[in-house]
This record gives sequence, structure tokens and C-alpha cells, in this order.
Amino acid sequence: MSKIRHNWTTEEILDIYHKPMMELLYEAASVHRLHHDPNTVQVSTLLSIKTGGCSEDCGYCPQAARYHTNIEGNDLMTIQQVKAQALRAKAGGSSRVCMGAAWRNVKDGEEFDQVLEMVRTINKLDMEVCCTLGMVTENQAKRLAEAGLYAYNHNLDSSEEYYKEVISTRGFEDRLQTINNVRKTNVTVCSGGIIGMGESIKDRAGMLVALSTLNPQPESTPINALVAVEGTPLEDQQPVEIWDMIRMVATTRIVLPETQVRLSAGRTQMSREGQAICFFAGANSIFAGDKLLTTPNPDVDQDMKMFETLGLTPQKPFTKKVQPQTVEAADSKLEALGEKPKWTRPGHKIERNELAKQNRKTHN
Ligand code: SF4
Repeated sequence: MSKIRHNWTTEEILDIYHKPMMELLYEAASVHRLHHDPNTVQVSTLLSIKTGGCSEDCGYCPQAARYHTNIEGNDLMTIQQVKAQALRAKAGGSSRVCMGAAWRNVKDGEEFDQVLEMVRTINKLDMEVCCTLGMVTENQAKRLAEAGLYAYNHNLDSSEEYYKEVISTRGFEDRLQTINNVRKTNVTVCSGGIIGMGESIKDRAGMLVALSTLNPQPESTPINALVAVEGTPLEDQQPVEIWDMIRMVATTRIVLPETQVRLSAGRTQMSREGQAICFFAGANSIFAGDKLLTTPNPDVDQDMKMFETLGLTPQKPFTKKVQPQTVEAADSKLEALGEKPKWTRPGHKIERNELAKQNRKTHN
């Protein structure tokens, strides 16, 4: 078995990334086969349960209130709406529902209680439940775990150095702290990043150093290709080359051998052949549904046709870990503490973020 290492260096990862393509693919596919069934791919559905109006300044995100984008915002969905969407996702072959809310961090109160009920509802449908709600405290992570949450997503986005070029409203260490809080529970960690934001290849390797040195390594790592949305600071970024995506997926597979590597945003820009090479190189998870939060995604039928062509089967829920128990709200031993944690707000200046903010003012 290829060993899990927590001491990868940037130089070692760069050496892997730059290998001749055929060698890289062979090595990644070999690692993949040792740890995973190469003919199974997990299908997840991403649901935006609260869209837009976010206070953060992530340079890639159309949901940041400060940028002028054309997305339609919505308040927190109802439990019934979420249940209906989850049932539809299950019928379409998804084994996991990931609920995303455009929040800086979770606040104890009615809305969080509603999200906890959504987690209970989906877990009872025998689907894996994942949430991505921003920063969470240890107590909030424990409450999510108690409700039956399977995974919590919190991306590192890029290397620690390049993170400062993209986001000024919170620090890289806050990301690590949230992951740490989730690790104090049985909830698995989903954490990855985005390529194509103008970062160097060294930054891509730096992100993989940060992810691989986490102990344990994340159970799931999404690799997103930036979808440049008009009105965001990164609107002029060129689409990621398929070969860059393949190299990134293959390198991630080698460095994170047991992790589910997820082909996430940017799949609409990839051919089926390109995606097939990514699966060969170790990607074993995709998001289904025609929208990924607010950006386009291939529709389910197209994906199922691709699976048929490639002889791939959707992964069954709870293949990697047993289903968590749900504790009902009335039986909970945990209180809503109403903590006010001090997450950082570095507030450094990012010129292109400032410019996008100005452009919004001119539009309004
Ligand atoms: S990525 Fe999340 S935290 Fe950042 S602006 Fe978008 S919704 Fe807010």
C-alpha cells in the first residue's frame, strides 16, 4: 500500500506535478487502485440553502454582497423544500447531499436550529449529509454531529500565501481552526480548493502541503476549476487548461491516497474525455445537478450517460464510514451557547477586490 504521509514538502509535490504526463497518470492510477474501487464514483448533490448577500470578500464568489453579479439571492430554505430536493437527488443517483449557506460563520439561533433539522431529515433518508456553512465553533460542530452530519466542508482554497491575494475578511488560520473544531467530532472533513485564480503552480503544491499535513488527512477533497463570474474580482481569469486539472487531480491522488478526490466546479468546461482521464488519475467523486450553488454544472442525464460509457457506477452511501446516529432536538444534551468567537478579520487591501466593489457602486 502507498503510505499516508503527513510530511510532504512543496518541492516533493512540485516534482510529482511536473512529471511527464504518462508517468504521472500511471503513478496516480496505481495509488488510486490500491485504495479505491476505480469503477465507482460518488455522486453528490450541492444545494444552496441560503444564497447571496454574504459579508465576505472571496474574490471568486458571486455570492459576496459587495460585488455586482446577477445571481438571485434567497433566504434560508424550508425543511420541506430541502427534503423534496434531497428526495429528487436520491432518485437521480446521488448518495450525498451537501447544503451550502452563504454565511461568514454559523450563528446559534433559529436559522442554525433549522439547518440542524435539515441534517436530521436528510440523514433519515439514508443519504450522507454534508454542510458548508462557514466557520464553526467546537460546540456548533458537536451539535451538527449529534444531528447526524456525515461531513463538513471548509475549503482551504489555495496556499496560505495566495489566500491573502483572494480574501481579506478572514485568515487562513481561521480555516484551520474550523477544521480542527470539526475534528473534535465524528464528522468527516471535506476540504480542498480552487485552481485558476491566478495562483502559481507552487501555490497549488502549497495547498496540497497544507491538506496533506493535516492529521488525519481530509476524507474528501474537492478540486475546483475557477468559473469566472462577471462582476467578481476574478472575472477576467482565463479558464483552466484541462491538462492543469488532470495534473492537479493526479497529484492530489498521490499525496492524499485515501481521500475521495472530487471533480467540482468547472466540469462544464471539460470534455467527457477530459473527465475520463481525471477519473483514471484518481478523481472519484462529482457533483450532480445543473447548478453548483450559483454556477452551471452538467445535468444528471449527461453524467449518467458518461458513467454508462465509462462503465462507472455511483458509489453507495456510507461505503467509507457507517451512518451517524441522529439525536432528536428534544433529546439533545448540547446547548446553544450563543458564543461570539473571535474569528480574525485581517482587512489587508486586495486591489482587484476593491475595484470590483467600486464597480458595484457605479452600477447601482
Ligand atoms: S465563498 Fe462563501 S464565504 Fe466567501 S463570499 Fe462566497 S458565500 Fe461568502
